[in-house]
Amino acid sequence: MTENELLDVFRKSSALLEGHFILSSGLHSDRYVQCALVLQHPRLAEQLCSELAGKLRHLGVSVVAAPALGGVLVAHEVARALGVRSIFTERQDGQMTLRRGFSLEPGEPTLLVDDLITTVFSTHYTIQCFEHAGAKVLGAGSLIDRSGGTADLGLPKTSLINLKIENYKPEECPLCKAGIPAVKPGSRAKK
Ligand SMILES: [Zn+2]
Repeated sequence: MTENELLDVFRKSSALLEGHFILSSGLHSDRYVQCALVLQHPRLAEQLCSELAGKLRHLGVSVVAAPALGGVLVAHEVARALGVRSIFTERQDGQMTLRRGFSLEPGEPTLLVDDLITTVFSTHYTIQCFEHAGAKVLGAGSLIDRSGGTADLGLPKTSLINLKIENYKPEECPLCKAGIPAVKPGSRAKK
């Protein structure tokens, strides 16, 4: 699939919105991504993740690992395509932790995936968590890289779609200046 075809899959399931949005951070943006809206369709999840798996198969990993919640479905479907297992970390008392008896062999070749790569910061802690558990993290994959490819994880990194989404402070937002009404995605409209 081309990047345009991939973007269309996201647009059609409203997982990629274009307009004027108020993010949970309070910043404004002209695009909004909610991968759960495309991943809610198992066939689309399978299709997208098998595309992603195809780009990462050469790493030869034996486990696909993700941070909960956003990455869980992606890890599951990428692992299905690669024929390996998938595990995930959860936050416990603010710390990323492997729970539920999940474990890794010492030096086990591991692929980190997530639905969305936004900042190096959040992904870094997930990588650290898997490394502490013994993993050798060989690469990272995501459906969307919202940094436009600029996030440096110190690992080979592959995304189906690279989006450079600009965030604006409300007082500097060009969409506000243009008088375009802003919406808060994911929340019900309030009058
Ligand atoms: Zn604005």
